[in-house]
Amino acid sequence: MENSVDKRSRWRGSLLAGAIGDALGAKTEFDSIDRIREIAGPAGITDFIPAYGGVGRITDDTQMTLFTLEGLIRAHVALRLTGDIEVGYFLQLAYQRWLHTQGVPWDRARGPKDDSVQPDGRLVTNRELYSRRAPGLTCFGELEAYGKTGVRGTIDRPINNSKGCGGVMRAAPVALWTDDPSQVFAVAAESSALTHGHPSGYLSSGTFAVIVHHLLDGRSLPDAVDAAKAILVRWPGHAEQLPALDQAFALAEQGSPTPEKVESLGQGNVGETALSMSVYVALTTEDPNSALLASVNHSGDSDSTGSVCGNLVGAMYGEQALRESWLDRLELREVIEGVADDALAEFGPDAPTGDQWSVRYPAH
Ligand SMILES: [Mg+2]
Repeated sequence: MENSVDKRSRWRGSLLAGAIGDALGAKTEFDSIDRIREIAGPAGITDFIPAYGGVGRITDDTQMTLFTLEGLIRAHVALRLTGDIEVGYFLQLAYQRWLHTQGVPWDRARGPKDDSVQPDGRLVTNRELYSRRAPGLTCFGELEAYGKTGVRGTIDRPINNSKGCGGVMRAAPVALWTDDPSQVFAVAAESSALTHGHPSGYLSSGTFAVIVHHLLDGRSLPDAVDAAKAILVRWPGHAEQLPALDQAFALAEQGSPTPEKVESLGQGNVGETALSMSVYVALTTEDPNSALLASVNHSGDSDSTGSVCGNLVGAMYGEQALRESWLDRLELREVIEGVADDALAEFGPDAPTGDQWSVRYPAH
């Protein structure tokens, strides 16, 4: 049945379900499951809970995922024009634009290599994105530092020793970057190494993006994880991510997810468990909507596991399987769908040209 879903539906589904999971967990990031049951009732979270002034509001996880995607589109536009680009630089600048939406003036956010007076492109000209939604301190701090120094974190020159989930939570769009899974892994790892220098902070992203990449092609989750693990083991520093995934598969043999089982894998606040908890939930559910609920009902980093798990199950089941009452109330739905479609156009066989496209996605 999964194979009858087309790639566009899987791709849009991945981004939309990620945002829904983020919004479902927005209110209860790090609340204990007991506290969640107090707030939402004995069944835990079953629907959006008002957060950040409304229902269906997304958080930094979705904001940054959108900027990852915009950075990739702009990098690809530049690649078509010049034939040679450094994708990490485009991702860095995309995150600097996100930093500006968080209230940092552009002349302090843009970094010393950029002398533009105003940030440009599709996302940053959308005022709806100008809102702080409990941004991760590591991301915020390292991007602020880049704004001062222009020094980019890389895998070879780690910027810190953080393995927070702020890298993996924004990495799903890299799935679309190329047909070569090893390159998907490398670019996703690089995207996270901009802010997270510990291997579990960036190898989780590489693994995650490769899993999504294969899910978009209609492969099963166990197949997709196996293919990603085969790449992961070639990278130094995989000693945490690899067993975390194996633990998820072992626990999945015990049937349906419960909050207690989910949190037995971790808190989801670090890269390797944000991914393993999300994979576990996706393995043990049969539709994206129950997966989304299971992914936020635990004592850990609910919005991030909701976001990462949503990216997985949206790609597995497609957008048409997502609960309409969630889609209808999801903040930024049109922006998410619009940028998702733009990405399919840019990465498709007939990439757009012309002035309008280069205003939306400038090649820098
Ligand atoms: Mg968040």
